[in-house]
Amino acid sequence: MNSGRKIHVVIVGAGIVGASIAYCLSRRENVNVTVLEKSELGLGASGHSFAWLNSFGKNPVRYHNLNCRSMDIWHRFAHALDRDIGFHCGGQLRWENTDEGAGALRRRVDLLQERGYACRLITAEEMRELEPGLLPGTVKSASLSQADGCVEPLKVIEACLERACESGAAVHMRTPVTGMSFGDGANSSRQVKALSTPHDEVGCNVVVLAGGIHTTQLAAMAGVPVPQQESPGVVVRTTPCQPVLSSVSVIHAPRIDVDRQDVHLRQASDGTLLIGQGSQESLNRDDSQEHADELLDRARHYLPSISDAAAIPVPVGYRPMPVDGLPVLGFVPSVPNLYIAFMHSGVTLAPLVGELATQEIVDGARVKILNPYRPERFGQAV
Ligand SMILES: Cc1cc2nc3c(=O)[nH]c(=O)nc-3n(C[C@H](O)[C@H](O)[C@H](O)COP(=O)(O)OP(=O)(O)OC[C@H]3O[C@@H](n4cnc5c(N)ncnc54)[C@H](O)[C@@H]3O)c2cc1C
Repeated sequence: MNSGRKIHVVIVGAGIVGASIAYCLSRRENVNVTVLEKSELGLGASGHSFAWLNSFGKNPVRYHNLNCRSMDIWHRFAHALDRDIGFHCGGQLRWENTDEGAGALRRRVDLLQERGYACRLITAEEMRELEPGLLPGTVKSASLSQADGCVEPLKVIEACLERACESGAAVHMRTPVTGMSFGDGANSSRQVKALSTPHDEVGCNVVVLAGGIHTTQLAAMAGVPVPQQESPGVVVRTTPCQPVLSSVSVIHAPRIDVDRQDVHLRQASDGTLLIGQGSQESLNRDDSQEHADELLDRARHYLPSISDAAAIPVPVGYRPMPVDGLPVLGFVPSVPNLYIAFMHSGVTLAPLVGELATQEIVDGARVKILNPYRPERFGQAV
């Protein structure tokens, strides 16, 4: 790819993953970037995300490390974007109120410390100092993962696209890709020559599929299998509140009783709270007002200062979840100018994916740490 000739890369999808790749590509001199987005910004998974930057519960260790690398890059990425993207890196505070939960948390912290993750057990007294507004109830164990943070995905997308456009990229909204046409490539392979949209045919040298949950369908246009599992999740919002957390970015609070799951909470820069239940991968399809009210009640149990907030239900969001839970990233061997970028935890991973995809697309590098995530693990194109 690195012949000095300008290459035209077309990115399908302007979620946080496509926007990060567009931004990183657009910083290279020999690349023309076009982004095709079928709807408005933030309607995909990125707009439904809790957007916690972390590697707290990620397995296996190489996937944990991949997320850690991206967390490290977030600082540089946010600095380079030089926009308000709601980047806050105050850590995650978590506590447990049962012996069973406390044991599991201690084991997790031990494992994370073995992996070198910035995480430690803290006392109830330290908790109080960190977050004086919290009424945690019984604390059997508590942890602080200092390097965890959060961002506001819509602001990140807007900043990436704005920066990309400043460098000459073209972004076409309300432009769905409906088909692909192919020609012959090197070594009798197939190449994507152009993408069809309702308005036009868009020619390309390289295509990046970053269509979130629609990537499976997009890849199928080239006969490429990208199997996924359905992963619905709900993160409700509230009306704006005064700042409720003094220092940390995210809290994970335990169950109030056996019938109700634990909750996680963070606050956006406009004062609204985001509240979800269970883990980052918990399945939930309940986007009713009753459920939103009930989640807010659970949060209020620990944070009495939010008594005036009202819950706003948000429609179910679908995580782009590959069938094995791990990212799908890289060129497709049988269609060598087709690059797939499909993943859960895409908010945490966006800066790393942007940088590494750019190296692979522009410099012709094959980044070894991405080998476990290659699309061909699901079989070749048919
Ligand atoms: C409830 C929930 C909670 C989450 N919590 C976290 C978290 O705490 N931390 C974290 O790191 N991750 C989290 N995630 C996952 C994370 O949000 C996603 O991995 C990430 O947003 C994926 O970004 P994306 O750009 O790949 O996809 P998307 O944001 O879905 O963007 C894909 C875009 O492609 C467009 N598109 C699709 N088809 C076409 C087409 N044919 N033509 C043109 N455009 C097309 C869509 O309109 C969309 O805008 C969560 C996700 C959900 C749903």
